[in-house]
Amino acid sequence: MEKKRDLWQRFSGYLVVAAGILLLIAVVQVLGLNELVAAGEEGVVTAVTPTTTATDSVATTAVTNTLPIVPLPVLNDNSLAPVPNPHTYQAKMPTHNFKIHIVTDFDTPNSIALQYGISADTIIGGNANISRESNLLQTGAELLILPVDGVLHTVKPGETLDAIAALYGVPVADIIGFPSNNLEAPFLRLIPDSQLVIPGASLGQFTFRAPKSVGNSGGAQQWAVVGTGTYIWPVDGRCLTSYYSGFHPGIDVSMAEGSPVYAADTGTVTYAAYAAGIYYDYGNLVVINHGNGYETFYAHLSGINAYPGQIVYQGDYIGSTGNTGRSSGPHLHFEIRSNDYGQNPLNRLTGPVRSCS
Ligand SMILES: [Zn+2]
Repeated sequence: MEKKRDLWQRFSGYLVVAAGILLLIAVVQVLGLNELVAAGEEGVVTAVTPTTTATDSVATTAVTNTLPIVPLPVLNDNSLAPVPNPHTYQAKMPTHNFKIHIVTDFDTPNSIALQYGISADTIIGGNANISRESNLLQTGAELLILPVDGVLHTVKPGETLDAIAALYGVPVADIIGFPSNNLEAPFLRLIPDSQLVIPGASLGQFTFRAPKSVGNSGGAQQWAVVGTGTYIWPVDGRCLTSYYSGFHPGIDVSMAEGSPVYAADTGTVTYAAYAAGIYYDYGNLVVINHGNGYETFYAHLSGINAYPGQIVYQGDYIGSTGNTGRSSGPHLHFEIRSNDYGQNPLNRLTGPVRSCS
């Protein structure tokens, strides 16, 4: 019995202590809750309107305070993304595959350009080292043919795409967009001494310097062949629409379009292209220097069958009649010049002529 009471007293003593602890916890909890509620009510009362803003700024401040420095990655902006394989990246060299044209007899800048569907300017654009004077296009020369009208540019060290585009006055995008330039975004790295096609660019046009007649009296021999000094009719027709005069330095022989034109005498072709500059009236023009002070001009041709530098012999087929330049119908405008002065061809051509009208 005594033992039982002792046990009870002991047990009840524990119970009281336990109950006291529970009570204490309960009191603390209730007090704490009240404090929080009071605080919340106070917050709502004092800062009613800017609830969200206040909450946000509080939250941000809290984050900043607890997680300093480390910014979150922005996934849709790759400017900060690590470079893939930064140590193995190499700029690609351009991989052009140009055609090569070997200048043959009868080639002119215009005929070559026509053959490849490019402008005559582009022949210069792909071959910056060749002479701009169309007379000096050499047989056997190898010409690089660009696939589009433009210029082949050799990159200089330190040169930028913007600088190159500005140099030629073309959009940067056109240079980047040309496939075999191999400019890879985002680097667009230029390799010094590599070559870029600059679409739409030009280094200028072929020029035509009016050939000077050069006599052989004294001085060095300048011509491989010298004319006979006699002249044959350059076309088969004898019907003239215009005679030689102070206003018209040759004769106009009416001929059906495409009729053959022959070299009136042996000589060297000094021009064979669409006439440029002050000679634009002539259309497609062939000029032969006969090496004896005389030249002959064959104008308004529909086709040219000679090339600058070519040696032709009296009677050789050099082109066909046409209506190019300032011309009102198919005919051959034919001139004989002696040391740059026009001569009346009828003084040197034999046989009767008649007026067309
Ligand atoms: Zn004429």
